[in-house]
Amino acid sequence: LTTREEETKKITSICPYCGVGCAIDYYVSGNEIIYAKGSPNGVNKGDDCIKGRYGWQFVHSEERLKKPLIKRNGKFEEVTWDEALNFVASRLKEIKEKYGAESIAGLSSAKCTNEENYLFQKFMRIVVGTNNVDHCARLCHASTVVGLFKVFGSGAMTNSLEDLENDAELYFVIGSNTTHAHPVIGTMIKRSVKGRGAKLIVADPRDIELAEYSDIHMRQRPGTDVALINGMMNVIVSHGLEDREFVENRTEGYEKLKEIVKKYTPEYVEKLTGVPKEDIIKAAVLYATHRSAIIYAMGITQHTSGTGNVASLANLALLTGNVGKRGTGVNPLRGQNNVQGAGDMGALPNVLPGYAKLGTRKAREIEKIWGGKIPEKDGLTVVEMMHAASKGVIKAMYIMGENPAVSDPDQKHVIQGLKNLEFLVVQDLFMSETAQLADVILPAASSLEKEGTFTNTERRVQLLHRIVEPVGKAKPDWWIIQEIAKRMGADWNYENPKDIFEEIRKVVPQYSGITYERIEKFGLQWPCPDKNHEGTKILHEDIFPTPNGLARFSPYEYKPPAEEPDEEYPFVLTTGRTYEHFHTGTLTRKIDGFNELIPEAFVEIHPEDADNLGVEDGDCIEVESRRGKIKVKAKIARIKKGVVFIPFHFAESAANVLTIDSLDPEAKIPELKVAAVRLKKC
Ligand code: SF4
Repeated sequence: LTTREEETKKITSICPYCGVGCAIDYYVSGNEIIYAKGSPNGVNKGDDCIKGRYGWQFVHSEERLKKPLIKRNGKFEEVTWDEALNFVASRLKEIKEKYGAESIAGLSSAKCTNEENYLFQKFMRIVVGTNNVDHCARLCHASTVVGLFKVFGSGAMTNSLEDLENDAELYFVIGSNTTHAHPVIGTMIKRSVKGRGAKLIVADPRDIELAEYSDIHMRQRPGTDVALINGMMNVIVSHGLEDREFVENRTEGYEKLKEIVKKYTPEYVEKLTGVPKEDIIKAAVLYATHRSAIIYAMGITQHTSGTGNVASLANLALLTGNVGKRGTGVNPLRGQNNVQGAGDMGALPNVLPGYAKLGTRKAREIEKIWGGKIPEKDGLTVVEMMHAASKGVIKAMYIMGENPAVSDPDQKHVIQGLKNLEFLVVQDLFMSETAQLADVILPAASSLEKEGTFTNTERRVQLLHRIVEPVGKAKPDWWIIQEIAKRMGADWNYENPKDIFEEIRKVVPQYSGITYERIEKFGLQWPCPDKNHEGTKILHEDIFPTPNGLARFSPYEYKPPAEEPDEEYPFVLTTGRTYEHFHTGTLTRKIDGFNELIPEAFVEIHPEDADNLGVEDGDCIEVESRRGKIKVKAKIARIKKGVVFIPFHFAESAANVLTIDSLDPEAKIPELKVAAVRLKKC
């Protein structure tokens, strides 16, 4: 050890990246992180991935925003906090008086803590007076919340990482490149398959790493998941493999399901999905005859049929009794570190904290605690806000820790909407593509520079510990929100995140029994209704949270995606993530090592498609959709013929220039996984 390493102290906190929520031991000297590694005292039990181990480096980046900025004559000028906060408050008040509260919208953030999300939505509802508040869950798991709620009465991961690791006899991984997007869970699956012989079914148009470990790999056409899952249920019913006792005692609506899946014979489904019928039969039989856990991510949710996809998976689990037991369930892997928590905290336009509906008795109770009136009309979702901004209906936006200029579909349209605003406030760590368009930028502290809680993908509420002091004059998001609220007339006096959490415990019944003291060492899983409750590892063991306690089969018919390939645009584009980078790259692209590994965007293409275009590995390809075009390098890969894949991390060749903003009608999630494109060599 060098002297410097000997001087380090270890502080444990939660990884700022994906929803697995690994505990990471950070080794700190002075105000500088020296190195980090997975902590044995977390859900990860010492495991980590490249982002957990090295991804903290953005904290010390020279490019961090260190002072508040106001744009004057097209240029940002450094100002004091007082000046920036007064300006934001007075402009928001002016716009509210002139056009009404509904002309203002806010984006909260799944990167921020529960306390900050809670405060942000409370600010929008009580201080501004609108439900126009949403966050990136709209783009990743809105259909999970709606689909699982419909079937189970609750929209969260049913099981825990621990029971999935120890007890699942089979994993059905669909629409999740787990080893890249949730690496520690990917490792867990590989360990279970290799170590104790668990079976693995993968459904994905790409040859993702887990496909190498699988018993069956079904390469379905993007957008045909409802057909594939209905096909599996058809086989299960026709082979008499359903769990009759479970169906009879714990569910309703079975006859309707049976009727709908009748026509999805393996032959018919092969035509729709491109998956050989033998594989569909084999997968269905394997799934139904084991203790099976479904694991899915955005390959399922980001479709115009996203709610149908999720509900169909839940139907499949019900049909075989694979719910409410160890090693089973329907397990959405949440993307961002705190996407579960941001939803729990009500950073959504149609529900309040704890998923309380607007205009109900519960909403009245929350009003009493908040001391103010909550509007009853549903607010706008992320994509609807951008449409309203480009039409001049939304005049001002307050965006905290999100980068819609790169993350949202149909980028040209989003940028046009943001430019059309009269006033844009962005609160962030870096000068993101969205921040560049702002009138005011408020520098925020990162999650390694503050306290609060995150809720991971398995509903575990975990405590953050401050690792280093905030850079420059950056402040925690909760402090900034409160200062703006006070300047707009709110009588708020939270002294620290714990104060806010104590209020959350009163408002959100699922969190009532969780205290900072109880989660000091290891988090608790909600629902945790009182201080003596141990938290809930597995949902729906005895009863479903529906009016009659039964789960509701909710069958869906297959509907094609909004845009299918045709003569003009013959390829299907699907988008996603890489192991090294994260989302719009705001954090990971500040890290030299990650940029060396993956410096730029690429398009994965099947070898025969590449041959037909006369393209070789590394050649430049122009990819064009009806909405725009980008140039990227070709990467010849094992992907379904006719399908191409582009990661969406790279602003300079943004995949979302190409994507379509058609929405799932129920969850309003955009179809980021299917767009028709054409390709040519540059
Ligand atoms: Fe962080 Fe996710 Fe990697 Fe764990 S798996 S270290 S939470 S990025």
